[in-house]
Amino acid sequence: MRTALKELEQASYNHDQWAEMLYSTLICRLSPDQRDIAEDAHRLCRFGQWYYNFGIAEFERNPGFVEIGIEHERMHQAAAHLLRATMDGTPIATVDYERFVSALKRLRLEIATAQHELRDALYNVDPLTGTPSRIGMLTKLREEQVLVKRKLRACVIAMMDLDRFKTVNDTYGHVVGDKVLIAVSAYIMAHLRPYDRLFRYGGEEFLVCLPDTDLQTGHAVIDRLREELGGLSHEAQGRDAFHITTSFGLTLLDADMPVELSIERADKALYAAKAAGRNRSVIWDSSMSTLRTEPEASA
Ligand code: GH3
Ligand code: MG
Ligand code: MG
Repeated sequence: MRTALKELEQASYNHDQWAEMLYSTLICRLSPDQRDIAEDAHRLCRFGQWYYNFGIAEFERNPGFVEIGIEHERMHQAAAHLLRATMDGTPIATVDYERFVSALKRLRLEIATAQHELRDALYNVDPLTGTPSRIGMLTKLREEQVLVKRKLRACVIAMMDLDRFKTVNDTYGHVVGDKVLIAVSAYIMAHLRPYDRLFRYGGEEFLVCLPDTDLQTGHAVIDRLREELGGLSHEAQGRDAFHITTSFGLTLLDADMPVELSIERADKALYAAKAAGRNRSVIWDSSMSTLRTEPEASA
């Protein structure tokens, strides 16, 4: 990912250089580089050579990366059209020039978006599980809260904590514990809708955000997830496979108070789930405001 970001920065710089050359060719009526008027000009420039030989399948399927290719090709077609006009000595039509300029702007926007997403994925992701870290979580929740305020859609948040996870570490070792965290978060990420979000809140606690979901549906989704997580088999060398359970506390993202307080509600509901015996999902209610946020040791 770091390499991809570095390469994209270099490729984008090379492309800016190319654009400067193109402007001077057009303005000073220099003879153009033959590659820039070729049919496959987009494959011949330095940026194109990098783009079409990139070779990281994960990015090549990314819609943003695909879009860069489309805009880049369009931009080259528009540029070749301008260059051919200069060669023939025909004046450049405003509409052709504008087509080129807007294609270049769109390409730059696509490149900047990809850079932003790569930086975000690189620096705001939990290194162990690959889930987004807490950085960015409040921003996402505040964005959702705006939609809740405008009554466009409800949003459910759920706090999850692995049950008796200390025992997993103590029995099988920290490395196996790490693998459990990876497996659990990978399962959740693979089974949520594309616009749902999972954040590693800290330790073995995660926050799930389900936009466009009412409380009843959110509860059904979370409870099914909880059951499925309990069915996952975890391996430890030389030992029998084992299962672990999870507890969830959930609440609606409230429109009228800071999102941190909604998180606190989900947290209170989580601890109610722990106190009630674990391996369950509990919806916050106002009677929980007085609950201690520590589970009963004996529960
Ligand atoms: P409870 O059901 O009450 O949640 O019991 P618990 O044992 O899970 O209790 P608690 O939440 O207090 O313990 C969390 C444990 O998670 C303690 C800590 O060592 C472990 N843990 C936190 N982060 C990691 C991690 O990144 N890797 C591993 N292997 N363990 C972690
Ligand atoms: Mg725990
Ligand atoms: Mg915990």
